[in-house]
Amino acid sequence: MNVRDTLDRPLRDLRISVTDRCNFRCVYCMPKEVFGRDHRFLERRELLSFEEIERLAHAFVAHGVEKIRITGGEPLVRRDLERLVEKLAAIDELDLTLTTNGSLLPQKASLLRDAGLRRVTVSLDSLDDEVFAAMNDVDFPVQQVLEGIDAAADAGLPVKVNMVVKRGLNEDSILPMARLFRERGHILRFIEYMDVGHTNGWRMDDVVPAAEIVDTIGAELQLEPLGPNYTGEVARRWRYKDGSGEIGVIASVTQPFCGDCTRARLSAEGRLYTCLFALKGHDLRALVRGGATDEELHEAIGRVWARRADRYSELRTAKTADLPKVEMSYIGG
Ligand code: SAM
Repeated sequence: MNVRDTLDRPLRDLRISVTDRCNFRCVYCMPKEVFGRDHRFLERRELLSFEEIERLAHAFVAHGVEKIRITGGEPLVRRDLERLVEKLAAIDELDLTLTTNGSLLPQKASLLRDAGLRRVTVSLDSLDDEVFAAMNDVDFPVQQVLEGIDAAADAGLPVKVNMVVKRGLNEDSILPMARLFRERGHILRFIEYMDVGHTNGWRMDDVVPAAEIVDTIGAELQLEPLGPNYTGEVARRWRYKDGSGEIGVIASVTQPFCGDCTRARLSAEGRLYTCLFALKGHDLRALVRGGATDEELHEAIGRVWARRADRYSELRTAKTADLPKVEMSYIGG
C-alpha cells in the first residue's frame, strides 16, 4: 500500500531543486534587493550530490512517485546536470522532466535528451524585450529564450512554456504569447502570480485571475474546456476550437487545488517540503550523510507524508502572505 497523507492524498510527484542559484533575477521570484551580492547561497558541499539525489529518488519512487521534475533556482546552472538526468532516467517507468528559464538550452538540449530527459518546460513571461527585461531584471533578451525553445524542440524534446502573469507588468503579453505558441505547436501555460516566499511583496491586486486570462484569449481565439489528463493535474486545460492546440491555466490563487495535491519537494540541500508554501522542511540529508539505510530513508519519507495536512492555498488570506515561507528559488518551483 502506498502512503497517504491525513487528507488521503497519495505521493505521486517529486520536484527536486538542484541549486538555489539562478542567472535571472525575476522580480516576482528572486528580487535583486534580496538576492544581491550579499546573499548567501548554498555552498557546494551543502548541496546534495547527484548520487545522494539518486538514492533519495529511489526511496520516493518506492512510495509511489511516478513523476520527477528537476528544477531550482535555474537547474541548468548546476554543472553536468545531464549526469543526474542519466541516473534518474534509468529508473523504470519514471516520467522525468525539467523546468528551466531556457537560457542554457542551446548548449544543453541535446545532451539532456541523450541522457534520457523526456520533455521540458521553459519559462517565458513576454515576447516584448522591454517587458521581459523588467521581469527577469538581468536584461535577458526574448530571442535567446526562443532559441532555447527551438533547440529543445530540435533535439526532439516536447516543450511546454510557462508564463507568470503579474498585473500591470505583462498582461499585454498574454495574446502575443498565445498566438506565437499556438503557431509553433507548444502548449502555453499561464500561472497566476503567487505569494511564494516572503520577499516578493505579493498583493492580491497583482494577481490576474485565470478566468480573465482565458477571457482575454477567448475573445480572439475561441476556446473550449478540456478535461484533465490525470487526477491532480495542476493546469486546467483549454483547447482552441479550431483544433490548433491547447493552453493551460494554473490558478493556484483563485481556484486552489490542494485537495488533489500529490507533490513533494526536495530542496537543493536535501530538505523535504510537503507544500510550496511550507514554513519548514525535514532534513533528509542528515539521514543520508548519517549512514541511514535505504529502508530507514524510505520510512522517514513515509512518516513525513503520513503526517501531511498542508492546504495553504485553500486557507490563503492577505495575512498569510506575510508568513516567513521558504523561497521558491530554494525549495524548487
Ligand atoms: N529557473 C527555472 C525557471 O525559470 O523555470 C526553474 C525554477 S522557477 C522558480 C519555476 C517556475 O516558477 C517558473 O516558471 C517561474 O516563473 C515560476 N514562479 C516563480 N515565482 C513565482 C510566483 N511568485 N508566482 C508564480 N510563479 C512563479
